[in-house]
Amino acid sequence: MLNNRLGEAIETLKQTGVRMTPQRHAILQYLISTMGHPTADEIYRALEKNFPNMSVATVYNNLRLFKEAGLVRELTYGDSSSRFDANLMDHYHVICTNCGKITDFEHPSLLDMEQLAESKTGYRVGSHRMEMYGVCPTCQQKQ
Ligand code: ZN
Ligand code: MN
Repeated sequence: MLNNRLGEAIETLKQTGVRMTPQRHAILQYLISTMGHPTADEIYRALEKNFPNMSVATVYNNLRLFKEAGLVRELTYGDSSSRFDANLMDHYHVICTNCGKITDFEHPSLLDMEQLAESKTGYRVGSHRMEMYGVCPTCQQKQ
């Protein structure tokens, strides 16, 4: 499963003419294997011991490239760092208000809400984002 997704992602990059480098491969593998939603800084810290010459800027540039190729989604949170999500299936997020952990959950897409928003506002709605906030199981145990 992991190797399939990694293989497909590498193939997609090849088709867009992106050359595979060891760093690029490692960043992609990290994104696909982690079930978290890491920031560029977290990816950098996870990989720096294997790639002493890598910089945070390298990680950022690669993330931008992956995003343009449609391999990851960027989750922005105002002024704080973006998080990157390699789960491309439609899904929603529950976010821990204590530790910031983001957990995926599946639910049929709320497309009827988009239609409702369109009819109420006259906007042409192209996407939506829903997040729920609470305390994750790990933090509940610590409390
Ligand atoms: Zn938590
Ligand atoms: Mn996600």
